[in-house]
Amino acid sequence: MTSTHETTAPADLDPANPFAAPSTLPYGLPDFAAIREEHYEPAILAGMAAHRAEVEAIATNPEPATVENTLEALERAGQLLGRAARAYYNQLPSDSTPGLEDVQERLAPVFAAHQDAINMDARLHARVRALADAAAAGDLDLEPDTAYLVEKLLTRFQRSGIELSPQDQDTLRDLNARITSLEASFGRKLLAGANEASVLVTDEAELAGLTADARAGARAAAEARGQDGWLLEMQLFTHQNVLASLENPATRARVQAASMARGATGGENDTREVLLELARLRAEHAQLLGYEHHAAYIAADATAGTTEAVNEMLGRLAPAAVANARREAGELAKVSGAPSGSGADSVAAADWSYLNEAVRKERFNLDDAALRPYLELERVLHDGVFQAAGLLFGLSFVERPDLPGYHPDVRVFEVFDAVEPGEPGAGLGLFLADFYTRESKRGGAWMDSLVVQSGLLGEKPVVVNNLNIVKPPAGEPTLLVWDEVTTLFHEFGHALHGLLSDVRYPSQSGTSVPRDFVEYPSQVNEMWSWEPRILKSFAVHHVTGEPMPAEWVDTMLASRVWGEGFSTTEYLAAALLDQAWHQLTPEQVPTSVEDVLPFEAAALAAAGVDFASVPPRYRSTYFNHIFGGGYSAGYYSYIWSEVLDADTVQWYAENGGLTRENGEAFRRKLLARGGSQDPLASFEDLRGRAAEITPLLERRGLV
Ligand SMILES: [Zn+2]
Repeated sequence: MTSTHETTAPADLDPANPFAAPSTLPYGLPDFAAIREEHYEPAILAGMAAHRAEVEAIATNPEPATVENTLEALERAGQLLGRAARAYYNQLPSDSTPGLEDVQERLAPVFAAHQDAINMDARLHARVRALADAAAAGDLDLEPDTAYLVEKLLTRFQRSGIELSPQDQDTLRDLNARITSLEASFGRKLLAGANEASVLVTDEAELAGLTADARAGARAAAEARGQDGWLLEMQLFTHQNVLASLENPATRARVQAASMARGATGGENDTREVLLELARLRAEHAQLLGYEHHAAYIAADATAGTTEAVNEMLGRLAPAAVANARREAGELAKVSGAPSGSGADSVAAADWSYLNEAVRKERFNLDDAALRPYLELERVLHDGVFQAAGLLFGLSFVERPDLPGYHPDVRVFEVFDAVEPGEPGAGLGLFLADFYTRESKRGGAWMDSLVVQSGLLGEKPVVVNNLNIVKPPAGEPTLLVWDEVTTLFHEFGHALHGLLSDVRYPSQSGTSVPRDFVEYPSQVNEMWSWEPRILKSFAVHHVTGEPMPAEWVDTMLASRVWGEGFSTTEYLAAALLDQAWHQLTPEQVPTSVEDVLPFEAAALAAAGVDFASVPPRYRSTYFNHIFGGGYSAGYYSYIWSEVLDADTVQWYAENGGLTRENGEAFRRKLLARGGSQDPLASFEDLRGRAAEITPLLERRGLV
């Protein structure tokens, strides 16, 4: 199929800019050898101008709306913007520079305005509405993916407030601006408050148990702030990592108290006023658009659909998780030296992970250092990740050192799709692997797309995986810890979602699915790291070639369920708090900062997760996911996806596990469909029924 290029010439963009014309490299890989920092901003701005002109032409077309002149035209529009913006937003987190950060600051409001202008265009709305009406009247036959596109477009218009009166639209705009500024303010206070909450230790004896590295870090942190001693800095979540190794109970208690008090200490960095206003304004925003509260507004556009569905799922998990956490606490109490029979409630939150480490060592005796020589990156990649994709989907991978990435560490692989098992087939796309950590890369691991698959545009996918593995000295092998192996499989699951996409419209491609669904394929792909056939193949000593001892594998398997009571409970408590704040109407939001912590306590008690030994993963006053940005009323998404994941793992087990036939079904019914239909319909097509929660309960040891 030939590629369709933009019909509008890029306005005033230097033709020498590498984004000015579509890349001529295989699969449209951006020409990174030619792209420099200063090319992004002019290309993106010219791309927006071209996109506006294309949209204007669609909106003012004198012909009546058709699928071709409206939907397909919208999908074809904005190609210059798309290729420049995707390349830019890929590089920003993975190889940033101060210059790229400045561009981000300048472009963020421009992007928002650009998107708003399209979503609030009454002429476009009328054209899409006309197509929907004609289809409803039986005058127009829409293909299922086109009908779904129409439905989603109308939802987007409606959620942008297009059906409101001009006054209400003004109110909505004001609310959006105020909410954005409050979110930024919450984030800033949190950052400043974290510094303030750091625990200063002046007597080194109080740091007993900390490694030399951790002490040196704490020393340097104190020095950086002109303080004498050791500074224990706060991570965002409640349960600080240092608590696992600090031997001194008084130091642990200080760290825990400082962590939990964040945002509620009075003064400049207190976040309570901001979060109350946010909760109220979000509720007003939702009601203006016709939803009962903010949580209903969020759920309506997710696979969950309603807050009732979210509440039901969380409600079913919570009692089992807390019961399991109490059982774990009972085990911890035995090693704590507490008087026998004092039970689960005798374990202080501050002591949990220290006691937990003692139990882990005694029961599982797993040593990361001993495992690492068996987990060498090249083997894990080729004999693990790629091999599983080969056996399941018939894919093969050939490294293309001739194709440059955006950084010397980036490796490019061409992906081939077998026509018949065992036969090399057609080129499917490119997979870019950017595994190593560097100063210019943000933390974590993620997947990105440089080109999205689309039948309409004749485009094949180019996807990127970013990890943060420490790079060994030149010539040394890269040895992983087990968590990194899991992450590699997880991120590759996202990559497969992009690579195996087989849809018509670019806006429905691959990972363009709701937030509470997007983690599902990646979580499923983690299962292959545990598959005996795959594990045996990649877990081989990098020098001696010996397989990993079988009893270590057994221990690793056995240790998986331990600690799930704690982690599920702290996660669910946070997810329930998120729902509690966002299931309020404007009138129900407390008005005094004094009411914030009592509201939190009451919400946890009402949900049955008020177990003092396991506080929420984030308390309201430092819950940045929900008050600082993107995850408001959506923190439940992780476990929602995991319900689907665990049920799918069971589907594989019921159908013979790792087979080409199963891979083909998962590919065709699920991965290939992307966002071209209701994702839950894809799931039900694969599973033959709606999702069930029991497999997740079993996996997490909650039954
Ligand atoms: Zn993920």
